Amino acid sequence: MQLARRLMAVREAVRDLRADGSTIALVPTMGALHYGHLSLVARGREVADHVVASIFVNPTQFGEGEDFDSYPRTEEADRAKLESAGCALLWAPSREEVYPAGHSTSISVSGVTEGLCGDSRPGHFDGVATVVAKLFNQILPDYALFGEKDYQQLAVIRRMARDLDFQVEIIGVPTIREADGLALSSRNAYLSDDERKHAVALPDALGETAAAIVGGETVADAIIAAKAKLFEAGFATVDYIELRDAETLAPVETLERPARLLAAARIGKTRLIDNIAVEPR
Ligand code: AMP
Repeated sequence: MQLARRLMAVREAVRDLRADGSTIALVPTMGALHYGHLSLVARGREVADHVVASIFVNPTQFGEGEDFDSYPRTEEADRAKLESAGCALLWAPSREEVYPAGHSTSISVSGVTEGLCGDSRPGHFDGVATVVAKLFNQILPDYALFGEKDYQQLAVIRRMARDLDFQVEIIGVPTIREADGLALSSRNAYLSDDERKHAVALPDALGETAAAIVGGETVADAIIAAKAKLFEAGFATVDYIELRDAETLAPVETLERPARLLAAARIGKTRLIDNIAVEPR
């Protein structure tokens, strides 16, 4: 696996990979890699000839008081994982390489960024859209893979790629979970043993709420029960639990089309997000 830290170098490496007409899949990450990330690399290898992964803890998508400084950085281990997963090139630029002095452009997507994490993390999706647009221009991938784990983010990227005419096919990849159902996340590393045990209430609550809604309970009642379950399990706050249209992310009051149940909640100091499909019978 090649490693590039400078823009000139990554462009040259991508040009070489493409020289024989090969296609490229991009897997953007912030590192601290787990099997969820590696499933994106595996899917990328199925759809394209070469996978380029990026590791960049993007400062502009973290808000004031969020965990930018403490975000886990494990580049050496990440490199070994990407290498064994068959990644061809790692793009791991410095902050200065991505945002040189004077950088003053930002991309803001409306609509799908409203509500959910858009409310609890103001500015977050502008940071995500901007860095992903830059990655698309840096690598010019044929495909880009994103996890359904960050469902609103996936919707934002799809919208941006369509709106700005990026020539890249966006592929969503299902969430990889621990044996008990907790979605893999780099932030799970923050959980104490006790918090980790109780964190499973999040996917449990989503599953029970989805089943209740499909079974005919009102969305509002099912969500009240889900919040109670999370508080009972020791979650300190619930940023949101909401049923949204699976495609447009518009709020859903009665289940008629494929929908998505999305949640964000804090256990101890750790904010966890998760979501599942809810489909009418
Ligand atoms: P991150 O490093 O958290 O920015 O995530 C990089 C990519 O991996 C994003 O597209 C995430 O949605 C995806 N991802 C994170 N966790 C999982 C998971 N448990 N299963 C599948 N994809 C994931």
